[in-house]
Amino acid sequence: MKAAFAARRLLEALLAATFPADCCLCTRALPWRQEGGVCLACWRKLPWTPGLRPGRGPLHAVIWAADYEGAVKRLVRGLKFEDMDYLAGPLGREVAARLAPVLRGLDPDLVVAVPLHWWRRYRRGFNQAALLAASIARHHGLPIGARLLRRRRAGRRQLGLSRRERLRSLAGCYAARGARLKGRTVLLVDDVTTTGATLEACARELLRAGAARVIGCVLARTPRNA
Ligand SMILES: [Zn+2]
Repeated sequence: MKAAFAARRLLEALLAATFPADCCLCTRALPWRQEGGVCLACWRKLPWTPGLRPGRGPLHAVIWAADYEGAVKRLVRGLKFEDMDYLAGPLGREVAARLAPVLRGLDPDLVVAVPLHWWRRYRRGFNQAALLAASIARHHGLPIGARLLRRRRAGRRQLGLSRRERLRSLAGCYAARGARLKGRTVLLVDDVTTTGATLEACARELLRAGAARVIGCVLARTPRNA
C-alpha cells in the first residue's frame, strides 16, 4: 500500500514536472502541492455556504455545501464538461466535511446518487454525482446504495426549462427498486440543483420503492432558489 502510494506520488511529481499546469482558478503556475488542479491558496478561499431548507413534495429536506456561483461554479463546470474528473476526489472530501453540521439530526441510512443515462455516462466516462456520493458515504460511514436507482430515458436537456417543464420532461425517467430501500432514510446526491425537479423526480421513485424519507443533497444550489 505504502509502495503504491509512493509510486503514485512519484508519478504525479514526474507528470507535474513534464507537463507544468496552471491553477484552473487563478491561472498561476501550479505548485507541487495542490488540490485537483487548484492551488492551495485558491482552494482555501473557496466560498462554502452549507445550508438546509425543508423539502417540498417528495423531498424531506434539501441540503447543500455551496452556492452555484463564482469559483465553485467554475470547478463544477470543469468536473462535468472539461473532463476534470481528478477534481471529484478533493471536492467530494471537502463537500462531505462541510455537510457534517447540516447532516446532523437527519440520520440518513444510505447514500444514493442521481444516475446518468448510460449513454451520457459512457460519453463522459464517469457520473460526477456518483463520485460525490462515494466521498460523502465514505466520510460519514454510510453504505452506498448502488443500482437502486436508474435512469431509464435520456430525456431532454434541462437548461432553460421552467420548473414545471422540467418536472414534466422528467416524468418516467427514473426507476427505483430494491429491498434495501424499505423504511430507509435515503441521502440522494447530485452535483447541482437548480429548480429541484431532478431531485424530486428521483425522490418520488425512491418513496414508491419503499423508502421512508428522502433528503436531497447537493454540492451546490443556485442561490435564487433559496
Ligand atoms: Zn489558484
